[in-house]
Amino acid sequence: MTSHNLQVRNLRVYYHTPRGAVKAVDDVSFNLKAGERFGLVGESGSGKTTLVMALLRMIKPPGQIESGQVWLDGQDVMALSEEEMRQLRLAGIALVAQGSMNSLNPVTRIKRQLIDGMKDHAFASTEGTAHERHGRNDKGGKMSRRALDAHARDLLTRVGLEPQVAAMYPHELSGGMKQRVCIAMAISLRPKLIIADEPTSALDVVVQMQVMETLRRVQEEVGAAVILVGHDMGLMAQFVERVGVMYAGKLVEVSPVRDIFRRPLHPYAQLLIDSVPSLEEKDDLEGIPGLPPSLLERPSGCLFHPRCPHATAACAAQEQALQEVQPNRWVACHLVESIHKNF
Ligand code: SF4
Repeated sequence: MTSHNLQVRNLRVYYHTPRGAVKAVDDVSFNLKAGERFGLVGESGSGKTTLVMALLRMIKPPGQIESGQVWLDGQDVMALSEEEMRQLRLAGIALVAQGSMNSLNPVTRIKRQLIDGMKDHAFASTEGTAHERHGRNDKGGKMSRRALDAHARDLLTRVGLEPQVAAMYPHELSGGMKQRVCIAMAISLRPKLIIADEPTSALDVVVQMQVMETLRRVQEEVGAAVILVGHDMGLMAQFVERVGVMYAGKLVEVSPVRDIFRRPLHPYAQLLIDSVPSLEEKDDLEGIPGLPPSLLERPSGCLFHPRCPHATAACAAQEQALQEVQPNRWVACHLVESIHKNF
């Protein structure tokens, strides 16, 4: 495989309902380099969360991964057994979920919760320091209780919390502190990929920035790639390096974050960026006309054509594949050159 940390090829995830298959993720492909920060944006229901849950193989019935390949550092994720997959979660791919701070056990001290994950994956890793080898010491034996305690305190310090937090219960912590504990858990086994699904949506903006700064710092320390899922374009602009825009289960544009904010190429990405309020322009807020399509009865051709201001008859007839239209810029629109002057 190449130097890409993560490769996703032609991934399809459908929810099977009595009325037919809901194509929540449809033929999605993208790559992530080691340590890269990648944002996934799009309206609610565009398939962002389903996509990242599929990377973790955590799709529940009636959802099903129909086809596609996921490679993490050359490892074929879809070919792993259930037990191998369980070990890969947290050790290889860690999740900081929406409202994950509410998933902390209210009757268990923070230290215990941090250590449980490490002990559970005691045989999962060969990298990092003795602490980071998930409960194994330098001679390959299990780490002592004292060493695990020290690692838990070290993790808390890394995310900007006092080591004393280890002895506390979740109800004694603020929302921002709890979310930092969740980040400490996510990096405890030095994963190759951290999935952060709207990790700060329940926090106020000041704490939000502190938590995102913490995530960036520890992500760089452990060298993990990050997929940040969210609606907050400001957060995306500050945190990620590339953005993937999803519409109705498909990626319609993948571009470096600077480029997509300066000059989005796909008409949907353009409308999405235009809908971000600006401090300078106090005009009425602009939304995207129309509604996202039903994923049960999808439009023909380009799925965006019923809402697209540039649509032609050909758009309704012809499906659009993601193509590299400029270096490092991938767009699913056959009219991209004619829409943009000086392309
Ligand atoms: Fe709009 Fe046509 Fe491009 Fe689709 S293919 S985004 S409808 S111009």
